[in-house]
Amino acid sequence: MKRVLVLGGGFGGIATAHRLKQKLGDEVEVILVDRRPFFMVGFRKSWALTGESTLEAGQKPIDSLSKIGVDVRRATIEAIHPQEKSATVDGERIQADALVVALGAELMPSAVPGFAEYAYNVYDPNDIPRVEKALREFKGGRLVIGIFGAPYKCPPAPLEMAMLIQDKFKKTGVEATIEVFTPQPVTLPILSQASCDAVEGRLAEIGIHTYGHHKALSIEAGEVVFEKRRIGFDLLLGVPPHKAPKVVRESGLVGESGWVEINPRTCETSFEGVYAIGDSTQIVLANKKTLPKAGLFAELMGETVADRLADIFSGKEPTAQFSGEGGCFFEVGNGEAMMIKGNFLAEPPTVDITDSSKEYYAEKVKFETDRWAKWFG
Ligand SMILES: Cc1cc2nc3c(=O)[nH]c(=O)nc-3n(C[C@H](O)[C@H](O)[C@H](O)COP(=O)(O)OP(=O)(O)OC[C@H]3O[C@@H](n4cnc5c(N)ncnc54)[C@H](O)[C@@H]3O)c2cc1C
Repeated sequence: MKRVLVLGGGFGGIATAHRLKQKLGDEVEVILVDRRPFFMVGFRKSWALTGESTLEAGQKPIDSLSKIGVDVRRATIEAIHPQEKSATVDGERIQADALVVALGAELMPSAVPGFAEYAYNVYDPNDIPRVEKALREFKGGRLVIGIFGAPYKCPPAPLEMAMLIQDKFKKTGVEATIEVFTPQPVTLPILSQASCDAVEGRLAEIGIHTYGHHKALSIEAGEVVFEKRRIGFDLLLGVPPHKAPKVVRESGLVGESGWVEINPRTCETSFEGVYAIGDSTQIVLANKKTLPKAGLFAELMGETVADRLADIFSGKEPTAQFSGEGGCFFEVGNGEAMMIKGNFLAEPPTVDITDSSKEYYAEKVKFETDRWAKWFG
């Protein structure tokens, strides 16, 4: 029997393991390793920081995949050996016929001097209760949301957080100015200049100011320091720089970009039988921009890899390809959302942002419940 070792049980890893079992059942052994016991969609953080819901309400135990025959191991991946299609997991070397690396991105707050002392990390689930409390107790003033590096997960998420916080402050009567800075030229570089102007204009209309080309050097008490200016704050919410996880960086899988570079259609790495999917990877699009880090893409890549492996194990020519079609939700408050979507792998990519509507908000809610139903039944 063939064995597939799936490293990481987030969007990409779960999608791979689930699809392999769906297709091959008992004909394949699937080992899925993650140190985290549960799955949770990224946007739970936006809901939890405003107190709309809790993180716990969105957590599903990965263990339940054992019901469909996946061998789920709660453990730490200490080393990856791509030449041998194996990994060291809690001291044990596990060998496989195929290796799927789905370890996401690592948050690096330590890369910004002062981040740990003065900023709240809105991308770290462990920091979300502290953020929620700080926002609940905020008496008004200058709230700054800082993007401290790019690429980062779900590009519209910091803007979504700004809008949801604004919505909350409106309801609770807190008077605040909200500012968002980014090191990138514009807030959403994947969009055309016109679409970006429209988004930034909409934010400005409701009093959320955005600054592009702002690469923070450090944070001091009450101030973010840039090369040519400083921005003062009463409360600073930060998206820390992201990197490929250390175990991936040390494996020889990453390229010059610092991320795993893969065949964009097949998710193959330069090592035979080793695939990488999701946030650990970087795909450069036809317009030289990069594929945004999004759960939906990690999932589609995982399903592509599973379909290809199912064919290969059955002696067939693999035909499945990652489509690059999909997108990310951008909730704007008042029970509405927009979506940034399109065909990212088209040449050139055809990506745009929709109008906001209650329907997109409903789709966002369904995005989470659909995954629960599909994977955890
Ligand atoms: C605020 C926010 C909002 C978002 N909204 C959306 C959205 O609307 N739509 C969308 O599609 N995406 C959204 N995302 C992005 C989405 O969450 C990520 O792109 C997605 O989780 C990436 O999937 P992945 O499988 O690559 O990595 P992950 O889901 O991060 O999974 C990686 C797994 O690897 C495990 N791991 C890492 N290192 C080790 C190790 N050494 N040992 C053991 N286990 C390890 C981790 O515990 C983790 O479970 C959002 C993200 C955030 C932060």
